[in-house]
Amino acid sequence: MNEVKIKEQEEYKKYAICEYNNRLNRLRNMKTEYFKKIEEIGNEIKVVQNHKHNFCSSVRGHTFREELEDGLYGERYKVCTTCGLEV
Ligand SMILES: [Zn+2]
Repeated sequence: MNEVKIKEQEEYKKYAICEYNNRLNRLRNMKTEYFKKIEEIGNEIKVVQNHKHNFCSSVRGHTFREELEDGLYGERYKVCTTCGLEV
């Protein structure tokens, strides 16, 4: 292989690797943004759930039913049949 050809291939490889790196950076940034968004949605779900539980409590109160956890040593807990609050 002659000098020029080798030089061309090296340049091409450098360019291609740079393109791969740019693409990887864009994907990593996108992933970070999605993780942030998922965290925001998770927080919003907690807030709305709290509002629902408080609303249920304030309008004629919760309607608890006793439940037993699955398994041999399952513990007892109560769940509101209206809003799903577990205590
Ligand atoms: Zn309730």
